[in-house]
Amino acid sequence: MGLLIKNGTVVTAEGLSVGDVRCREGRIVELGAGLPAAGERVVDASGQYVFPGGVDPHVHMELPVAGTVSSDDFETGTAAALAGGTTTVIDFVHPERGEDFASALAARRRAAARSVIDYGLHMAVTWWGERTADWIARCAADGVPSFKIYLAYKATVGIDDGDVLRAMAAVRRAGGVVLVHAEHGEAVEHLRDRFAAAGATHPRFHALSRPPALEGEATHRAATLAATAGASLYVVHVTCREAIAAVAAARELGWAVDGETCPQYLMLDDRVYEADGFEGAAFVVAPPIRPRGHQEALWEALAGGVLNAVGSDHCPFTMEQKRLGESDFRCIPGGAAGVEHRLALLYTYGVGAGRLSLERFVDLVATGPAKRFGLYPRKGAIEVGADADLVVWDPDATGAISAATHHHRTDRSIYEGTELEGLPSWVIANGVVRLGPDGLDVERGAGRFLARRALAPRPD
Ligand code: MN
Repeated sequence: MGLLIKNGTVVTAEGLSVGDVRCREGRIVELGAGLPAAGERVVDASGQYVFPGGVDPHVHMELPVAGTVSSDDFETGTAAALAGGTTTVIDFVHPERGEDFASALAARRRAAARSVIDYGLHMAVTWWGERTADWIARCAADGVPSFKIYLAYKATVGIDDGDVLRAMAAVRRAGGVVLVHAEHGEAVEHLRDRFAAAGATHPRFHALSRPPALEGEATHRAATLAATAGASLYVVHVTCREAIAAVAAARELGWAVDGETCPQYLMLDDRVYEADGFEGAAFVVAPPIRPRGHQEALWEALAGGVLNAVGSDHCPFTMEQKRLGESDFRCIPGGAAGVEHRLALLYTYGVGAGRLSLERFVDLVATGPAKRFGLYPRKGAIEVGADADLVVWDPDATGAISAATHHHRTDRSIYEGTELEGLPSWVIANGVVRLGPDGLDVERGAGRFLARRALAPRPD
């Protein structure tokens, strides 16, 4: 059965127009004004916006970290995404050292098959060996053309600069994109160990051991190595002025460098680590929440085009899991829930606060990530032939975020009490109403693996 969305203000990255969207068999089949109903279910979107479904390029469902696993699995985490208007997520594959990338990918695809919305995967280059370059080419051909490199966490997933350069060159040859976690790993480890040796245990030392300068340096270094390798670079979770400056400088030199930030870095400042007792642990994410001032610089970077995407870095843990680090901040599992509220936070505090236009909002949460990661125009677009992933957005609806009501599978929200103005009233994924007047209706396994397109391969 089809669906006809009537009289909404259709917003794309290019502009606004009032009209109707007809969906059939999971696709958008017709756009126009005054379209006659042809036996479909009709959704009246008068006075509301119609956005392309959100594309979250950075989530971690059921991710093994520091002796535990992030608390949303692919089913619960993607249901939370859907509840907030996100209809596509891209998660990650982290091969063990010595593990073949193809078998790691196959195992992750089995876990991800529970997803309720469509999903893609990025491959993390966690180690370098004789066959790694071939595996990178194979992944790109199999619909995984984006590769994450960690400049931190050398003990587990990070690699040395020589291998970073080798990996970047292999990704370029495969027509892929490099994602980088940019923090100076050795310096961070040094500071963490120095604080711990001095008897510092409180969660605030997590932030103090990862200062902005170490992110700025690593961002500049990643950009330099990518330019040397001729690779296209996407810097995940940019948090501070130092890193913004590095991205802007790289772009000025003509380097193919782009960046993402996340709502937690826009919304919060480092006073969160001064919460009573161990409560600051809920805010232990990496990079950490920054001091006051960096947030406004991030908003300006989004508005001005230095940063071109907003991902959630969704990676929740319960407070019980966080207590693994109660006597040593280095053992607190790093991550927080956010996939459900990415759109509403960016809408309320971006569009509503006059910092972002509606078109820019859509570009940041849907169209930009879809283009960057080989999903456009199937995702991130409202045009004939695109997947019927749509959000009807009520700009007058209000609410407040709370762990008591969110769909994330954790007992804490880093946004507890934060007020929202503008919420999804209908969410449609592949032409099926998943959120509407009757509430949320999800189906385990309804999501499909998205084989994404590589850029044109670029040989030496
Ligand atoms: Mn992440």
